[in-house]
Amino acid sequence: MSAEFDGKLAATRATLERIAADFSPAVFASSLAAEDMVLTDLILRAKLPIRIFTLETGRLHAETLGMIDRIREVYATEIALYRPEPAAVDAYVTAHGLNAFYDSVEMRKECCRIRKVEPLNRALAGNKAWITGQRRAQSTTRSELAVQEDDPAHGMQKFNPLADWSEDEVWHYLRSNNVPYNPLHDKGYPSIGCEPCTRAIQPGEDVRAGRWWWENPESKECGLHVVDGKLVRIKSTAEQA
Ligand code: SF4
Repeated sequence: MSAEFDGKLAATRATLERIAADFSPAVFASSLAAEDMVLTDLILRAKLPIRIFTLETGRLHAETLGMIDRIREVYATEIALYRPEPAAVDAYVTAHGLNAFYDSVEMRKECCRIRKVEPLNRALAGNKAWITGQRRAQSTTRSELAVQEDDPAHGMQKFNPLADWSEDEVWHYLRSNNVPYNPLHDKGYPSIGCEPCTRAIQPGEDVRAGRWWWENPESKECGLHVVDGKLVRIKSTAEQA
């Protein structure tokens, strides 16, 4: 890979070290996908005091859940799991059915709110910063993603250390460092979410075309990066200055 990649990698390491030093306690929200494994490897190899968690929605693929065991085997580290409130899941399924998220955007967002947004809020509570594996190139809704953003909805800073990484750079890092990755990536899944809401894509399709594929591209966010239920781009600290 190029000197440009070496520079991005050094900048990413520096960002993670700065988060650990200046924004403790900080947490990394891992969805156990390729980008998340890059950050997991960087955090755990450097022994940075950043807690790693994942949202165990109850609807993940077996392959994704298997990554929790792989991380334990390779890094001797336990990823924290945050699950939805059982009573909220029961109420939704009883009232609307197990797969009501296919019926409307509202039903889909309500399922995401119960299974992802509420557990995320619990996972983030009490921290000064959180980290994601998002990249600008992943979708139209992420094209202006900053490395550091103010996250007023959670009252903390949000970091996207891989914002300017390309997909090729992610895979170069994983392969050259022998980092374990979700086997679904080898089966046509560049982007992985809950099992019923993710499909494999064809060559040439947008990398996020397999997520909530029955909806418009503009509405394809799970609410985790949405303010007041609307797709609002959170301005970076630099932009607000
Ligand atoms: S991605 Fe699908 S199954 Fe998962 S929480 Fe959202 S709507 Fe529910």
